Amino acid sequence: MVSGIIEEDEMKQPTLGNPQETIAVLQKYNFVFQKKFGQNFLIDTHVLDKIIRAAGIEENDCVLEIGPGIGTMTQYLACAARRVVAVEIDRALIPILEDTLGGYDNVRVINDDVLKVDIAALAEDENGGQPLKVVANLPYYITTPIIMGLFENHVPVKSITVMVQKEVADRMQAGPGRKDYGALSLAVQYYARPYVVANVPPNCFMPRPKVGSAVIRLDRYEEPPVKVRDEKLMFRIIRASFNQRRKTLANGLKNSQELDFTKEEIENAIACLGREPGVRGETLTLEEFAKLSDILSES
Ligand code: SAM
Repeated sequence: MVSGIIEEDEMKQPTLGNPQETIAVLQKYNFVFQKKFGQNFLIDTHVLDKIIRAAGIEENDCVLEIGPGIGTMTQYLACAARRVVAVEIDRALIPILEDTLGGYDNVRVINDDVLKVDIAALAEDENGGQPLKVVANLPYYITTPIIMGLFENHVPVKSITVMVQKEVADRMQAGPGRKDYGALSLAVQYYARPYVVANVPPNCFMPRPKVGSAVIRLDRYEEPPVKVRDEKLMFRIIRASFNQRRKTLANGLKNSQELDFTKEEIENAIACLGREPGVRGETLTLEEFAKLSDILSES
């Protein structure tokens, strides 16, 4: 090619994303899937396009990808964003990533456990401290610690668009009274607005997972939708309320190892909230948990 610009465009077309290419790469490197790392690689270009679109990647964005695998989604991200930082735990994948991402000069691969990486420092180095967009086909065994770690540590993150187990996506966006409403729903909804983008069947992955998957986008709030005096106390109360699902809210709070309120303080707080003494935790909204926490913090 005569023009450098055309060369660059050609170089930036994803080559991965279908079963044949994935098998070819895996065979070339004699790659053995590690179950303990939750490895289910995406082999469907439509799903990949959908994730990139749903994530709303813009050309000036810096994206953090968790678990790039053989680099399939990384290629798509590298075409759409200014910079991609991909954190992969499995050392066996690093030579593969060097190969599949060789043509992309805007990608940095870090061989580490994402739970041990200082994401705030990464955002500082790579994006001048500005918020990153997180995009990932997450290893299902640590979905919750990864997402909650990003929220609770207050790292600069604008949005998180991730493939998770369908059941987990449903829990994240469930509201009061639904069977799957719980501590995860409240924690996610305190920090972000959840939106399920697509359901993805097992045949879009290699190997096929046993469960259905879904892509969920979480748009981080600049300010949480409710005000609470002691965030940590509210989350202790939430955990206690859902620990023993069949118990009443009062019993859940009384039996919690994490809380130290008397029976009377708890009963008074529930009455102040305007709820019946036998109310169950799963019927309370986020606003009510915040209010309950504020009332109890004054006990
Ligand atoms: N992004 C690839 C794709 O869509 O084809 C792979 C997704 S696969 C579901 C999850 C990836 O996360 C694997 O590559 C796995 O090795 C990696 N992984 C698992 N635990 C990790 C951790 N704690 N930190 C970083 N990467 C991890």
